[in-house]
Amino acid sequence: MSWSFETDPEYQQELDWVETFVREEVEPLDHVLGSPYDVTDPGFVKLVRPLQQRTRARKLWGCHLGADLGGPGYGQVKLALLNEILGRSAFGPTVFGCQAPDSGNAEILAHFGTAAQTAQYLQPLLANEIVSCFAMTEPQGGADPKVLTTTAVREGDEWVISGQKWFASNARYAAFFIVMVVTDPEAPPYQRMSMLIVPAGTKGLEIVRNVGWGSERAATHGYLNFDRVRVPADAMLGRPGQAFVVAQVRLGGGRIHHAMRTIGEARKAMDMMCERVLSRVTQGELLAKKQMVQEKIADSWIELEQFRLLVLRTAWLIDKHNDYKRVRKDIAAVKAAMPKVLHDIASRALHLHGSLGLSSEMPFASQVLASYFLALADGPTEVHKVTLAREVLGGYRATTDLFPAYHLPRVEAEAQAKFADLLAELAQELGS
Ligand SMILES: Cc1cc2nc3c(=O)[nH]c(=O)nc-3n(C[C@H](O)[C@H](O)[C@H](O)COP(=O)(O)OP(=O)(O)OC[C@H]3O[C@@H](n4cnc5c(N)ncnc54)[C@H](O)[C@@H]3O)c2cc1C
Repeated sequence: MSWSFETDPEYQQELDWVETFVREEVEPLDHVLGSPYDVTDPGFVKLVRPLQQRTRARKLWGCHLGADLGGPGYGQVKLALLNEILGRSAFGPTVFGCQAPDSGNAEILAHFGTAAQTAQYLQPLLANEIVSCFAMTEPQGGADPKVLTTTAVREGDEWVISGQKWFASNARYAAFFIVMVVTDPEAPPYQRMSMLIVPAGTKGLEIVRNVGWGSERAATHGYLNFDRVRVPADAMLGRPGQAFVVAQVRLGGGRIHHAMRTIGEARKAMDMMCERVLSRVTQGELLAKKQMVQEKIADSWIELEQFRLLVLRTAWLIDKHNDYKRVRKDIAAVKAAMPKVLHDIASRALHLHGSLGLSSEMPFASQVLASYFLALADGPTEVHKVTLAREVLGGYRATTDLFPAYHLPRVEAEAQAKFADLLAELAQELGS
């Protein structure tokens, strides 16, 4: 029997170091630099590279990676405890070499890449010398990848790609794109598509424009046009028709890693909310003394702790089974819970800070908006709830009877029958 909610003292020491390092050295980067993906920006080189050296020296670089890929092979539980600290800062994951979508792209390159692909793309990606982009969503649909229309047609020993992609994060900084394309339109829906690796700058690949969300400073989501873009036949990642299999490998990890970081973001709002209500006096007493305020604090704490336990348990299950498919239900639950937790806690924090909370001088409005990002990226909440419900219902059986299995008259009759002999014996004993 092993069931523990404690962190190894040795690893806790590392987490304590990370906590201070992120607060003092990494969070300030969010206020002086642009995008954490702009790896050629002189500011990035000057300020971020030295911090990355420190996390490497501390053996905290690439903690999502196994030892075979140069990481410490900590597994998902330790990664969760680390990521919930990194989630406080936009630059946190980059300084520790575990930023999305590069982490997921590295995962599929390691899993499906040929020797040539891993040498060309995986090694520099793991070292954060370059960043990458995953392009699946199209203007006409993202939640249902079966409607995607970008095609790749084989011409000689090349694939020729035509179509458009939408909301391809970090396209403007990416050295290469992993693009989901229809290669066999006649095949069953889940076998029609393949993944191709397209280097940035390939002729015919145009970033039509970069799209931002809300008040984001730099627009970083690419609207891409592929006008007969040619890549060699060996640019395929995985086998023809295997795109959904490849995508699932990256999305499983991607979703849970976002959730780990969301704990950090929500805790930041929670910390600020608690400080505020202990500091602000209204109508002769602290906000913290008012019951309706106390309810907000209590609800926030409960939601955050429930979510954190769900994330950690799911991380533990991934470590145990080493197979995202077996943990599909739990990952779907985490993905569906994540936006609501951040939305609700950040909204309460915003409200309790009054006009200051709503202002551009506080992070809450961005956090509330970020909750919508979490509800969309890697698939909308509804789709994950459908997955979850389907998996949960898979564990139940329908009854063909008019009344349910637990209909009281039935259970009572069954219980009477089960104990009939003993009850008869007892009646005799009591009667004699
Ligand atoms: C910040 C951000 C970054 C992103 N980065 C990337 C990226 O790097 N690469 C990439 O390929 N994509 C990326 N996306 C796209 C993302 O994956 C899609 O937005 C998402 O899959 C939804 O697709 P859609 O936007 O086309 O919405 P639609 O498919 O049009 O869905 C719109 C809405 O319809 C409802 N809906 C959809 N399906 C169902 C259903 N089955 N049941 C009930 N309701 C449903 C939901 O409310 C959903 O939000 C990103 C999105 C965001 C917001």
